[in-house]
Amino acid sequence: MITVSAVEPLRRAVAAARDNRKTVGLVPTMGCLHDGHRSLITAARGQAGFVVVSIFVNPLQFGPGEDLERYPRTPEADAEVCLRDGVDLLFMPDTAGLYAADHSTRVDESMASSGLCGARRPGHFTGVATVVAKLFNMVQPDVAVFGQKDLQQVAVIRRMARDLSFPVRIVAAPTVREHDGLAMSSRNRYMDAETRRRAAVIYRSLQAAAESFRDGERDAARVCRELADRINQQPPFQIEYAEAVDRGTMQPVARLDERVCLAVAVRAGALRLIDNLSLA
Ligand code: AMP
Repeated sequence: MITVSAVEPLRRAVAAARDNRKTVGLVPTMGCLHDGHRSLITAARGQAGFVVVSIFVNPLQFGPGEDLERYPRTPEADAEVCLRDGVDLLFMPDTAGLYAADHSTRVDESMASSGLCGARRPGHFTGVATVVAKLFNMVQPDVAVFGQKDLQQVAVIRRMARDLSFPVRIVAAPTVREHDGLAMSSRNRYMDAETRRRAAVIYRSLQAAAESFRDGERDAARVCRELADRINQQPPFQIEYAEAVDRGTMQPVARLDERVCLAVAVRAGALRLIDNLSLA
């Protein structure tokens, strides 16, 4: 595995892979790799002969008062995971290497990013779209793999790639969950044991909502209210939003059908977790 932190050696290594007629796959991450990330690496492996993983905690996507400083960083363990999983190139830039000190250009998606987390974390998806656009330009992958766990992020990236004509195929990989259904997340380690035990309520409640859809319920407002109530009944968890949205546009819907995803953001003190379930 090649490990680089600067853009020039990255470009050279990718160019060499291309010279060897390999297709290039990219898995962008913020590190602290878990089995969710590993499933993206596996998916990339299945689609590309040369797999690049990037690890970068992108300051541009964190708002004031969010957990940028506290965000878990485990570079040695991450490198081991990548090595074991057959990653070809690990790209670990630092902030100064990625952003010019006076950088002044942003990528702004304005439809899929308008609601859900976008409405609660101003600037977040601009930060995400900007760094992903930069990674696409640096790596020039044929395929890039993202997790369905970050439903809105996938929708934003798909639109950005389409609207700005990036020659890359976007693949969304299913959410990997713990044994009790909690979606794996680097932030799960912020929870104490009791909070962690109670966090199973998030997926359990999403499943209950999907079940009422299967039983014939079509009223999005009623289903979302019940979803929120269930989660609120399990302190310290408090619903930030529970919404039914169209899978492509991320816009709220009034009636449920197979194109709809249920999306939640949940708080427990300073911790914020997101999850979603497709009704398809
Ligand atoms: P992050 O490091 O949290 O920015 O995530 C990097 C990539 O991994 C994103 O595309 C996430 O959607 C994806 N990811 C994070 N958690 C999971 C999970 N539990 N299952 C599948 N993909 C995930």
